[in-house]
Amino acid sequence: DRINVAIDGPAGAGKSTVARKVAEQLGYVYIDTGAMYRAVTLAANRAGIDPGEQDRLKELVEVLNIRLAPGENGQMVFLNEEDVTSEIRSRDVTQHVSQVASHESVRIRLVELQRQLAAARGIVMDGRDIGTHVLPDAELKIFLTASVHIRALRRYQELKDRTGVSLEQLEAEIAGRDLSDEQREISPLVCAKDAIRIDSSELTIEQVVALIQELGRT
Ligand code: C5P
Repeated sequence: DRINVAIDGPAGAGKSTVARKVAEQLGYVYIDTGAMYRAVTLAANRAGIDPGEQDRLKELVEVLNIRLAPGENGQMVFLNEEDVTSEIRSRDVTQHVSQVASHESVRIRLVELQRQLAAARGIVMDGRDIGTHVLPDAELKIFLTASVHIRALRRYQELKDRTGVSLEQLEAEIAGRDLSDEQREISPLVCAKDAIRIDSSELTIEQVVALIQELGRT
């Protein structure tokens, strides 16, 4: 029988790569919920809405159309049918997304979409509140972490040729995003009671994927 898998954890722990590979191997559909919060943030930035403007954000999410679709290089994201898959990864979006995601109206709307997508089962969904709030009945829940230093280092290796960002700067940004995700009032980032915690600091992606697959079998 098809199950649902929830993978939560802080920024840069490798959730999306791991979730995508686990989904591939199980023949399941991968859903990156962070991409949805990023799409709302991009739309807000473009509309000149400040991430603190609760009322305008509420109006915005009500009219936005966010669509996820499988692509050759993973999940594609469409905002009102425009392909924004790369643009939602910009540092501008990354810097504002946690504040946008802290608003209840934004979360309610996106969680509704996420639950609809998971209704088909056979889903691997990654985010911050999947095991605790979005899919509390998911059969397998993973909380994937790594030290802040390791997470920043991995991100640095990805970005260093494209941007002039320093390791210290990335470390500070990641720590800031963790703090705001952990301390927000609605669905804060926390390990679900029934989740299995995996620290990937000293594991390769392949090792983490193998571990999760093994857990999915039992
Ligand atoms: O996973 P990613 O780093 O792309 O997520 C971007 C941001 O979106 C997170 O820092 C968090 O603020 C927010 N988010 C969330 N709940 C989720 C997924 C992401 O609040 N389920």
